[in-house]
Amino acid sequence: MTRFTVLTLFPEMITGGLMRGVIARAADAGFIAVECVNIRDYAGNKHNRVDDYPYGGGAGMVMMAPPVREAYLAAERAIKERGGSPRLLYMSPQGRPFTQAKARELSREGEIVLLCGRYEGIDERAAELLAPEEVSIGDFILTGGEIAAMAVIDATARLIPGVLGKAESHERESFEGGLLEYPQYTRPPEYMGLAVPEVLVSGDHAAVDRWRRGQSLERTKQRRPELLIGEESRGADAGMQG
Ligand code: SAM
Repeated sequence: MTRFTVLTLFPEMITGGLMRGVIARAADAGFIAVECVNIRDYAGNKHNRVDDYPYGGGAGMVMMAPPVREAYLAAERAIKERGGSPRLLYMSPQGRPFTQAKARELSREGEIVLLCGRYEGIDERAAELLAPEEVSIGDFILTGGEIAAMAVIDATARLIPGVLGKAESHERESFEGGLLEYPQYTRPPEYMGLAVPEVLVSGDHAAVDRWRRGQSLERTKQRRPELLIGEESRGADAGMQG
């Protein structure tokens, strides 16, 4: 079981946004658990304030270090009490890009804590003290880390063995094996004058496999050629090492 603990000012975004379909079933079946810690509960002041003006001036507000750190310490205590050891991720546009490989790595963890920023982000001292791994879901700016945390949880949870119905459901997906997935078709066999490629209804499984592999390569070459270059250089590295 992988437990995701989300440190957030908007817990209802996480529970409302994630608990549908595959992820809700994974939680019901005990493959994952998703919990939230509301950072505001650790404000520690009369007005429950968690943000303040930035030193040095400038636009926007900054999340204060004490509530962020206290919320994390509360999550860490709970995790340690159940014998776990937390891996802390801070959702941040300045982090390393989140990838399928990272999702696979996280799917082997027991306890993942995801810290969601708001406003202009968190006071740098919270990051310094907690030393989180910073993870970005792309080169764009969201208003908060919750959507990023949901993306990380969703992509990670579906890779936990047993979560998807058939083990091979994600084996040939885009990015697995360094390629984009081949095109998919379902009924009807013809739609608006467009027929399903003949090989897919031929019943020849080897021919289907060859066609799909060819389509995957072609798509990757056209849409994301840098993935193929990455594959080639990884292959060359492996060759040099071995
Ligand atoms: N001022 C910050 C900067 O320029 O780096 C951006 C702050 S953003 C408005 C507020 C919060 O949204 C961040 O602290 C982070 O948690 C989250 N966030 C925004 N974009 C993100 C991204 N691409 N990936 C992950 N988290 C993101």
